[in-house]
Amino acid sequence: MNSLRKKSLENLFNKQPRLFQNDEKYSSLFASNVFTQSTLEDYVNKEAFYQIAHAVNKGSKINRNLADQIAASLKAWALSKGVTHYTHWFQPLTGGTAEKHDAFFDLHASGKPMENFDGSQLVQQEPDASSFPSGGIRNTFEARGYTAWDPTSPAFILGKTLCIPTIFVSYTGEALDYKTPLLKSIQSLDNAATDICKYFDKNVTKVNATLGWEQEYFLVDKSLAASRPDLTITGRTLLGHQPSKGQQLDDHYFGSIPPRVIAYMQELEYEAIQLGIPLKTRHNEVAPGQFELAPVYEEANLSVDHNSLVMDLMRKVASKHDFIVLFHEKPFEGINGSGKHNNWSLSTNTGINLLSPGKTPMSNLQFLTFFINTIAAVLSHEALMRASIASASNDNRLGSNEAPPAILSVFIGKQLTAVLEDLENVSKGKLSPEEKTDLKLNVIGKIPEILLDNTDRNRTSPFAFTGNKFEFRAVGSKSNCAKSITVLNAAVAQQLEKFGKEVEALIDKKEMKKDDAIFNALRDNLKGIKNILFEGDGYSEEWKKKAKERGLSYNQNTPQALTAFVSKKSIALFEQTKVLSDREANARYIVDLKEYIMRIQIESRTLGDIARNHIIPTGIKYQNILIQNVNGLKEIYGSDFKKLADVQIKIIERISGHIEEINKGIFKMVEIRKQLNEINDEFLKASAYCDKVLPYLVDIRYHCDKLELVVDDNLWPLAKYRELLFCR
Ligand code: ADP
Ligand code: MG
Repeated sequence: MNSLRKKSLENLFNKQPRLFQNDEKYSSLFASNVFTQSTLEDYVNKEAFYQIAHAVNKGSKINRNLADQIAASLKAWALSKGVTHYTHWFQPLTGGTAEKHDAFFDLHASGKPMENFDGSQLVQQEPDASSFPSGGIRNTFEARGYTAWDPTSPAFILGKTLCIPTIFVSYTGEALDYKTPLLKSIQSLDNAATDICKYFDKNVTKVNATLGWEQEYFLVDKSLAASRPDLTITGRTLLGHQPSKGQQLDDHYFGSIPPRVIAYMQELEYEAIQLGIPLKTRHNEVAPGQFELAPVYEEANLSVDHNSLVMDLMRKVASKHDFIVLFHEKPFEGINGSGKHNNWSLSTNTGINLLSPGKTPMSNLQFLTFFINTIAAVLSHEALMRASIASASNDNRLGSNEAPPAILSVFIGKQLTAVLEDLENVSKGKLSPEEKTDLKLNVIGKIPEILLDNTDRNRTSPFAFTGNKFEFRAVGSKSNCAKSITVLNAAVAQQLEKFGKEVEALIDKKEMKKDDAIFNALRDNLKGIKNILFEGDGYSEEWKKKAKERGLSYNQNTPQALTAFVSKKSIALFEQTKVLSDREANARYIVDLKEYIMRIQIESRTLGDIARNHIIPTGIKYQNILIQNVNGLKEIYGSDFKKLADVQIKIIERISGHIEEINKGIFKMVEIRKQLNEINDEFLKASAYCDKVLPYLVDIRYHCDKLELVVDDNLWPLAKYRELLFCR
């Protein structure tokens, strides 16, 4: 075996799980590193506490005096925990998190050392924005951007640093991050949903979007991964022959978790729990080496922060355990990739889950109202929803027979479909008392029972109703949750607003009673809905045809999918819900296209380098051994050597054939890249990268993988799939 690879493997088998002991109860550790409202209560007087709580819950302004009080409390709390620095913590359009640490330490004018932190430092910072993606919003001469405190997500301590969740905007006030539009979408949804709730319960004054994500990931041994420049640079393997055993036996899913992995998970949970991330489940996923974790759901903004934070934590803890964690959507060819399931619902200040039926006919009607309007919203913005999950890496996963297709559809199960059909048959206009009773008893009255028996599941659906929430399953594992949740919130907000107007019009013009008007408006909204509902096999070819007939979009790659982000309809949605301006949406479109181009470019370069510097030389090395062998046989057996050297000669020729193809491929790929780099239009460039560069990645890989099969295992320089996937 190649000496480097051999060393990595020896090293691996000598590795003991870095056992992690903690016998403390999670409940007593929970959020101990978070500046919660209850911590604040310990530090400020009653009046200030109520003012702050009001500002946080109602989104009202926090004045300078109040900000100073909070800052002083934060400082005192942080210093009591040995913290030395603070940072505004934000989520720029790179997809990760960003922080710039400043010490509390300062020198007084007199030269006296002190710890300093006041309201102005809490509320705003001015990091240089010039190195973050802006999609052209930020002029180069005005590189400043600023971060502004988000009081709805509490500050927390990471290591010895106090992290303050913030939004990140340009000097001219335009969003440069994921949180700003997310917060606006949450606000917009709150307004629209609260208005609708008032039909059912006057006590509802606030509706929160709730999010519970499920995060899939792979763990790979760090030293094995180090032999793979593709894994270290791009997060996925660009070559590698599939192992003789992959996931076909399904013996990994929910299997017993390997000790090294358990040790990792425990330390991760220990850290996460202290940060207030309520991790609840952990298990093996379908692919070997693949795992999943999920928390208890939370208010969407906090949940998005927690997902970003946990991904950061996962990387750090992995390193301590000599693993690397892969969030790439498709790290291994032929092996299931990773997704993120975004479970989403709506919850009122009165403690009601609006996507869960209740005990009375009226609460079930309320459930149906939010249920139907969510589906209508998805129907209306299916192409935009697809755009919200588009990325170069997710393109590798969507549409293969393991993940939802690139076509958005909604799964609700047979029984709820039947309920909608019954509702569609309600006669127009005012309902007779008999009709109403029948509807309440026999249609909506049955919903709770239906949902109790919610065994009806469909793994192939990208957007499924799962009893008391919708589950957006096509989201990429690497993606920031905010991207898809912002779009979903905005779409539902717009639909609810429209629905409210329809109900009002029926009440005003047709003098209907409230429940008659709601029934009628629901029925009218059901009309187009069948187009987005799909119960069948989302992987089938038949569905692709059917979806086209239904007018659903089928965007197979990111450049195509992203166009929907800036369609007239989407811009109107963003503007109406105040989530993004036209300029901001277009900037994001450019950021995403650029990222796509760069990702493919980097993959293409990386594969070119590996093929040239690792694979071709290895092929030649082995070929030389064979040539030596053939020459030896010739020496010993003279003209009879041919029969004895038949296999060797064939392999020598095959190696030459593959080397030639690889070399040709790299040459052409580089030429094409040079041409494409002259294109100025981002969409055209991204599309060209997709159409013209990606095929070379497949082609070059094919020949490299063939070489892997013939070349002596001792010589092969890269850790193989069987080692990466099964050794831990
Ligand atoms: P699965 O989908 O794997 O069967 P569950 O139904 O238990 O698992 O829940 C999966 C995820 O759904 C969890 O992360 C949980 O937090 C989330 N979830 C449950 N209820 C809600 C809700 N009302 N709003 C948002 N997410 C929710
Ligand atoms: Mg799930």
